[in-house]
Amino acid sequence: MSALIISGYEIDEKLLQRLPIQRCRLNVCRAACCADGVWVDWGQAQRILEHAALIQPFLPHSRRDPQTWFAELHDDDPSFPSGRYTGTTTVADPDDPEKTTCVFLRPEDRLCAIQVASLAHGLPAWSLKPFYCCLYPLVDEHTDEQGQRLAQPRLTLDDENDLFARGGGCREACAHAQPVFQVYAEEVAFILGAEGYRELCRRAGVVPRL
Ligand code: SF4
Repeated sequence: MSALIISGYEIDEKLLQRLPIQRCRLNVCRAACCADGVWVDWGQAQRILEHAALIQPFLPHSRRDPQTWFAELHDDDPSFPSGRYTGTTTVADPDDPEKTTCVFLRPEDRLCAIQVASLAHGLPAWSLKPFYCCLYPLVDEHTDEQGQRLAQPRLTLDDENDLFARGGGCREACAHAQPVFQVYAEEVAFILGAEGYRELCRRAGVVPRL
């Protein structure tokens, strides 16, 4: 069967499979997907730092120093737009000191301070939030298992990692099966565009929910 290509992305079978799952609920998952922080393009990290004054008031006092927000610089993954990337740092999780959370996860409501700050200043919710936070639990792959560059980037489910296995998979079991891409329609539309998402629905024979 030929690959399904939409908006320049090959749609992986993992997104087309039907599973009895629904989106997670924050009061249940407690933002488990934010346990390890996230990789961020260096350019996007600089943009977050330029907006530090917006974000700082939405974090606990002990986390307001922007110099503590990002870890070291890397340059070994060309899939990042600037060719360089870093990670958000982590802190002990106030819910469970045996675990960690991203420095930007607010202890009081388990919301992302970057998103909360954006909304509070009239910006779109995802305007400053790291790309891979907006996309998760989906991910764009640019190389194959041997490290060779793919002809088309592949949009898939980011389920082959330790975070997913530890409950950070943004899903709950439910009674009715549905295509995985429908569960994460917002994330699909984020990367394919709204028209790309609707094209995917049309090709899969399901009614768009956005
Ligand atoms: S930047 Fe925000 S959404 Fe991303 S891992 Fe940190 S707290 Fe979670």
